[in-house]
Formats: sequence, structure tokens, C-alpha cells
Amino acid sequence: MASDKQSTIDHSSLRRSPALEAAEDRALTQRDGEEKQTEDDKRAHHPVKAALPTPADHPLHNLRPGDHILDRDFRIRILLPPDQQLKKAKLHCCWQLKHLLREYEQIVKQRLQQSADLSSFILELKTVLEVCLKSHPECRSMPPPQYYSQLISEMETLGWDKMLFIDTNFQTLKLKAEDSSGRQHVLNIKLKSKHPTEAPDCSADLPVPLNINWTPQSTLDQLHSQFLLVLESLAEFWDVLDEIDTKTWILEPERPSRSDTMRRIAIKNNVSIRVEVDPRHPRMLPECCLLGAEHVVTPLRSKLNANMHTWNPDSSVLHNLRDVLEIEFPSPATHEKSSFNTECGICYSYRLEAAVPDQVCNDPRCGQPFHQACLYEWLRVLPSSRQSFSLLFGECPYCSKPITVKMATQKS
Ligand SMILES: [Zn+2]
Ligand SMILES: [Zn+2]
Repeated sequence: MASDKQSTIDHSSLRRSPALEAAEDRALTQRDGEEKQTEDDKRAHHPVKAALPTPADHPLHNLRPGDHILDRDFRIRILLPPDQQLKKAKLHCCWQLKHLLREYEQIVKQRLQQSADLSSFILELKTVLEVCLKSHPECRSMPPPQYYSQLISEMETLGWDKMLFIDTNFQTLKLKAEDSSGRQHVLNIKLKSKHPTEAPDCSADLPVPLNINWTPQSTLDQLHSQFLLVLESLAEFWDVLDEIDTKTWILEPERPSRSDTMRRIAIKNNVSIRVEVDPRHPRMLPECCLLGAEHVVTPLRSKLNANMHTWNPDSSVLHNLRDVLEIEFPSPATHEKSSFNTECGICYSYRLEAAVPDQVCNDPRCGQPFHQACLYEWLRVLPSSRQSFSLLFGECPYCSKPITVKMATQKS
């Protein structure tokens, strides 16, 4: 490669990082080995050198190929054909530069055709690159080669079986983890270009914030172990919710995720209880809210208040709820989900933006639920309705018995 050294435009004074330079040299050398040099290329070595402006007689002598472009180093090798025509020149560059210029290929070709000499072309190329880096800020933080070798060795230590996904930039990873109850979890990692010096951004489907201790010596394997500890600390919370999810009919959320702490459990048609489980104290009495017609909800609420003191943290939340409310929850084993009327009697849907039908007709034979907004709009236009402060009094659209709705958004 001795003759190659001459054909490469001298950029040695521009490199900042010796490690980066060595790595890029390796990359270039490898590429050179792969690409068979043509006779034209070989003949071009000396002419390129001759075509370079000399500091003394050229006004652009300050310009150096591979110069800092928005604080990034690039190297490029330009091979001129024997006739020294710039328009037939061949450009060789590192993969990072190639990647950056992929959308600008036509412009670069055009500039090569139109530039008077090599130095004006390089100036043009520098402008193109600056535009390109500005429009792709993510490329500006492209990590150095040792980032990738470090990452590969960390993945090997971690074990490939734990890798779920990695993006083409090697910056976004998904690791899989299984807790002691066999539940599968995913840890999302966004690595910084200064990994491992800079801590990565980590996220997961958890009911609590994910706090990771990271030092410059930390590795993916240690990150994974920390994540497993977090999962274990939440195992009891998920045990409690898994029992509720499998043994009752959940009206809300439609598809609970591992971070959801709330469940609305069906009790009977148009009657449900909303519980909010504390992920740190999952077996304690959760926040409860009963929803449904007053004649059903009032006795349940009284039982809840009267039996609250019997709540036993050694027992599961579902067991405690059964005991305290003195009811059996309908389960998938005993009931169809369709036996719980959950749709709004006016718009026939369950969800209206974030709202669910939580306004219920209090007539014992009706009990039809409505969205607050739907019921308000319905009653507002009827001449039989009357308003008092923020309350609207009217008739149930189903059974014509008196019904009341608040104007303001009611807390769910
Ligand atoms: Zn509605
Ligand atoms: Zn009614």
C-alpha cells in the first residue's frame, strides 16, 4: 500500500484522535483490499498529487480535505484518470461519509463535473456536507469505531439469547428478561455515542420509574442484572394483578399493560369497582371507587366501609375484595363478557376520548350507563330539562325516570 499513501490526499495533520485514525485506516485498508484496483487507478496516483494546490500559489491554500466540518473529521481519496479530468475522478471514502452522502450523490457528481479544479471541488463538497450534517443532526453524533467493538464484546458477555432487537445504527437495543414467575419483560436501551462513559437511556413497561445505576465501567450485562432485580421487586404487584385479570372480567383498561396499576372490575350488569393498586404495597387495601346505580352501589359502599378493618395483607387483593364486599366477582369461567352492559346508551360506544360511561340511571329496573358528555348534550336540548347551578335535571332517555348530570367534567 506504499504507493497508495501517495495517492491519498494528505490529511495527517487534521486528525484529532489517534485511535479513530487507526480504526479508519484499518477500515480504508480493508476496503482497498476488497476492491481490486484498476489500471486507471494506479496510474492516477501521481497526477492527484500534482493537482493539489500548493500553499504558496493558490488562494484556497487554507482549505484542507477532511477538514473539520461542523466538528467532524472525514477523509476522502480522490483518484484522477490519466488525463487528469476531474469529471472522471473516482471518490473513495469511509463508510460514514458514504452513508452521509447517500442522498446527495447526484449533487456530488454534478459538482465534480462543474468544478474548475480539485480544491474548488473540495470546497463544494465541504458545503454539501455541512448542509447534510445540519439536516441530519443524528449523524453528527455517530460514534467512533471502538464504540462498536465495545458493544459487541458486551453483547457476547450478556448472551445473544437476551437480545430481542438492535437497530441498524447499533444505538437502540431491546433486551428480554424473564421474572421468577415466568413473565416476559423488555428493556429498551438507547445508547449514547459516548457509551459506556455516558449512561444510556433505559425504559421498560413498569408501574414505577426505572432507576439504573450507571458508571463508566458498567456493561449491558450489569444493566440486565439490575433490571432483573427491579422486576423481582415488582413480582408481588404483578401476581396480584394477574390473579385479578384471570379470575374477573376487566372492563378497563381494555388491554392492561405491565405498567397499569388500575383495573375496573365488573360486579354485575352496569355495576363495577375501580381499584388502584399501589405497586410498592400491592397487598394493602387499594384505592376503590364503586360505579353504578345508587341502589346497588350504596349497600356495597357501606360494606366496604364496615369491613375495611378486616383487610388481610397476607391474602390477595381479589380475596380481600370478595370478603370485604361480600360478593363473588363474575369470572370468565361463569359469565360471558357480553353480560356486562358497558356501552353508553346514547352513543353506543364504550370509550369517548378518555371517558367511559360512568353516569348511570338510578332506577333499579334500568341502570343504563351513559357518558357524562352524551347525557349532558341529550338533556340540554330537551324542554323538559331544567338547570340549577352546574346540575342538569331531566329524564333518562331509556326509562324516563328522573336523572341528573353535572355540567363540569366529572372525575373518573
Ligand atoms: Zn356516549
Ligand atoms: Zn333509566
